[in-house]
Parts: sequence; C-alpha cells; structure tokens
Amino acid sequence: MVEKLIIIGSGPAAWTAAIYAARAALNPLVFEGAISETNAQKGSLPLGQLALTTEIENYPGFPRGDLSQYLRSALAPEVYASLPQDGQQGITGPALMELMRQQAKNFGTRVITEDIVAVDFSQHPFVLHASDGQQYQALAVIIATGARANYLGLPSEEKFKNRGVSACAICDGALPRFRNRPVAVIGGGDSAVEEATYLTRFASKVYMVHRRDKLRASRIMAARAMANPKIEILWNRVVEEILGNDEQGVTGIRLASTVGEPSVDLEVAGVFLAIGHTPNTAFLQGQIELTEDGYVRYVKPFRTYTSVEGVFAAGDVADKNYRQAVTAAGLGCMAALDAERWLTEKGWH
Ligand code: NAP
Repeated sequence: MVEKLIIIGSGPAAWTAAIYAARAALNPLVFEGAISETNAQKGSLPLGQLALTTEIENYPGFPRGDLSQYLRSALAPEVYASLPQDGQQGITGPALMELMRQQAKNFGTRVITEDIVAVDFSQHPFVLHASDGQQYQALAVIIATGARANYLGLPSEEKFKNRGVSACAICDGALPRFRNRPVAVIGGGDSAVEEATYLTRFASKVYMVHRRDKLRASRIMAARAMANPKIEILWNRVVEEILGNDEQGVTGIRLASTVGEPSVDLEVAGVFLAIGHTPNTAFLQGQIELTEDGYVRYVKPFRTYTSVEGVFAAGDVADKNYRQAVTAAGLGCMAALDAERWLTEKGWH
C-alpha cells in the first residue's frame, strides 16, 4: 500500500501537521519514534523535547489553573494516570504533548511507535525503512524529527536532570527552585547570553561558564551580558561535576580550568546547558540537503519545501533559531498545507 502522507516525528510540529493533514482527508501515518534505551539516552523518545520538561507557561491557551478535570476528560485514563501530577496547576510538557497526540488521533491519524531509520528519496513513491524492519511507501513525507539539546555527558548531570539541571531556561527558569538563588549557564553563544539574561529576572545571580576567553555570541549580545550587573562571566572554565543531593537536587558545580588554574566549587541551585543542539537527521544523510550543522535546509522562503520535491520539513529539525513549541506547531501546520497543495497539484489528492 502506498500512503499519501507519512509524518516522521512526534513533537508539536509532527502532531500539528497530523491534525491538519487528517482534517484534509490525507489519512496520515505518523512514526512517533521507538521507546528504546538508545532514544532515552539521546533524548529523542516519542513526544519530543517537551516530554522532558515540566510546566509550560508560554504555550498560548494554557494559563495557570487546575486543568485536571479537562485532562481527565480529554485523555485516555491510562494516559492521564501516566502524567506528572504537578500538571494540575497549569499545563506540563508531557500533558501538552499527549493532548496534541490525542487531538491528531481523534481525526483519524494512525500512529506507529517505531523510528524511521533510513529513507530512499531517489525513487517515488518514497521508501521509508522502520526500526521493526518493515518498509513503507509514501507519496509525500513531512520530516518533523526535532533536535535534541546537547549535554556534557557527565553522570551527575544525568542524575539531576529536571532537578536543577535543564537545557531550556525559557521553559524552566521561572520555577520556584531557582527564584532568588544563584544559577549557572554553560556556554558562550547567543543562546547562553539569551538564557543568562532571561534568568536574571528570577535568579539572584547568574554565572556564565565559558570554556574560552572570548564569547561566541554576537557582539551586541555579548555586550549585553557584560553590561548586566547580575551576570558574571567565568572565563576558561568547564564543568567537572554537578554537585547536589537527593533532597535538594543541584546545590553547586565544580569547575575545572582550561588554563591550568585549580578547580573551584560554586554554590548554585541550577545549571542551564546552552551548548547547542543536534538535529535528528542522521537517517537523512545523502538523501536530502542539510545545512553544515545538519539541519534540513529549506529551499524557499516561507515554505516548508526541502531539496526533494514532495518532502517537507517542520519544527526544530529545520529551525536552529527559534526552537519554540509554538513555532514548531506553526511550521507543522504549514508543512501539512504545503503537502496537501502539492498532492492536489499532482492530482494525487
Ligand atoms: P552555538 O552558537 O553553537 O554556541 C554553543 C556554545 O556552547 C559555544 O560558546 C561553545 O563554545 C559552547 N560549547 C559547545 N560544546 C561545549 C562543551 N562540550 N562544553 C562547554 N562548552 C561547549 O549555539 P547557540 O548559542 O545555541 O546558538 C545557535 C544559533 O542560534 C546561532 O546561530 C545563534 O546565533 C542563534 N541564536 C540567536 C539568538 C538571537 O539572535 N537572539 C538567540 C539564540 C540563538 P565555543 O565558543 O568554545 O565553541
């Protein structure tokens, strides 16, 4: 059987694309990713990066409030039971993703919990190989596999994820655990400066830890960090260990020097990684044009077209710059509309 549209991914871009495609009678098939140890380690399990966060305060339509009754009514009982219960005072990342997934399914989206591990876009219908060994064919494909935040790879970092260690200041910065406490941002790029600046609203002090003696951030952003009295840049330092305990989570960091100085311990309540992201595009190598950083390259402004006609991309897999749930959802909508129009033009829909 040849599918009209296969969507690969399961974040806001993928589910929004599925909602629009299903309502356009494209009968979409979504590969949401496999539940595997490898994906867990990589941070690319089904439901994407939002499933790894806690409260989501900046997704429009979900102000703080007791959503428990609504969530119970919208989701299957076993799904509701699996959600973190702190979701009762506003929407959590996992709950938002379950709602989007459910909404896509309500319109008839079919979902397979496997990865697409290889594609052949040189033939049409396109051929997609799934992690269960099965092969699928599709007239159009939307790639929405997202990106994953880079981590340092320390065991202590893994231990305190969501308990003081975060890769998203905009998602987590306003949490009570960081209020009026010192925190650290790791990295020296624009994201690090942006996150550090954002965190100054809540934290008592923000240390920026950078491994060199010059920021990578653009000049204007770098000047902003240096001028902010609440930000202190610690040059030529890397994180050796994240310190903490079971009760409080993160309590500090041990910083090694890259220029031969002794290590130092710093008291912080949070560690925000801003050392870049890696798009999930390994399975696309050689099949589609990627940027030098590995993101899917858009070939036309304000369209989700890729270098392969009939293959569209949405969300963080093609967006190094904005990386927000709401922008990913918007791109998912655009990709579904682009795919629908393309299939109609070709006379296949
Ligand atoms: P980035 O520019 O790649 O910067 C990553 C930073 O992390 C670099 O300073 C790098 O150090 C450091 N780093 C990488 N691996 C590390 C490791 N293992 N240990 C310690 N430090 C490490 O990434 P980004 O800041 O996320 O920015 C991504 C893109 O989005 C950029 O094009 C940026 O301009 C854009 N952006 C723009 C804005 C804005 O304009 N408002 C805001 C955010 C992002 P080195 O410098 O030594 O390599």
